Amino acid sequence: MTGRRRRVVVTGGAGFLGSHLCDRLLERGDEVVAIDNLATGRLSNIEHLFGVDGFTFVRHDVSQYVWVPGPVDAVLHFASPASPKDYLELPIQTLKVGSLGTHNTLGLAKDKGARYLLASTSEVYGDPQVHPQPEEYWGHVNPVGPRGVYDEAKRFGEAMAMAYHRAHGLDVRIARIFNTYGPRIRPADGRVVANFLVQALEGKPITVYGDGTQTRSFCYVDDEVRGLLALLDSDHVGPLNIGNPTEHTVTELAEVVLEVTGSASSLVFEPLPVDDPTQRRPDITLARRVLGWEPEVSLREGLARTTGWLEATAT
Ligand code: UDP
Repeated sequence: MTGRRRRVVVTGGAGFLGSHLCDRLLERGDEVVAIDNLATGRLSNIEHLFGVDGFTFVRHDVSQYVWVPGPVDAVLHFASPASPKDYLELPIQTLKVGSLGTHNTLGLAKDKGARYLLASTSEVYGDPQVHPQPEEYWGHVNPVGPRGVYDEAKRFGEAMAMAYHRAHGLDVRIARIFNTYGPRIRPADGRVVANFLVQALEGKPITVYGDGTQTRSFCYVDDEVRGLLALLDSDHVGPLNIGNPTEHTVTELAEVVLEVTGSASSLVFEPLPVDDPTQRRPDITLARRVLGWEPEVSLREGLARTTGWLEATAT
């Protein structure tokens, strides 16, 4: 590759993580082809990129055959519903984009001789019986439960990516992404940070599912994207956990949200969704060692920045 800019395909490029990846890649001088069918992605996430030199948007469902003319140096497969609310509403599409979409984009990368980064997930660990979760843990997933459509599609995607790596020598990277939040998360996305912030800002009750003792570990989007690009640029195939290891109960999250927003909302307790994991926290020993990466933005700071963004866009 001489005399031209690196050219990167981002599927799910109009989504939450995908659009932030497009921003960072363009900032560092790469050309970007963003592909999105806008099932859960939004043009408002990338409208500032239209007209930017090196940026192209293609509206397409990557569960169908994918073709991109011209050279491609990297394919980042980030297309998928990612909120439990979304993938329960779009179960077949979620299975298809994680399986057929992964196959199609692997085929594109193989044909172009491109590096391939798969957006996998902490959901491959299911309701984990090992805590925190290291990459060697095989997980505890219910394949036939409602969350299975996401979990198993991502597990299949990892298996498919590793098969292309072993059988075709494809240059693969697999990131296991833990709960991530920040600007561009859809207010109606249904995930806990979006729900709690919107409810707090509107003075409505905060909906805690179950008894609120289940835990999650929340990573601010800038930290997450920095880790993902470090993995892309590294020699490490993975899978690699990219997440924030600071763990909170859902009730603790609600309390921090109330504090950051200055809201007087009350907490209401609602039924726990089926197969909701009781605990989740990444072991990031490997990411620290091979990437020299770790998160920097605290939950309070990240929630304050996200609140600022929600207030600025809620007009
Ligand atoms: N949750 C909650 N209230 C909400 C939304 C989610 O208590 O309004 C809980 C949910 O049951 C889970 C955790 O927050 O235990 C994280 O849920 P989310 O949908 O953000 O993603 P998950 O980590 O389950 O994929």
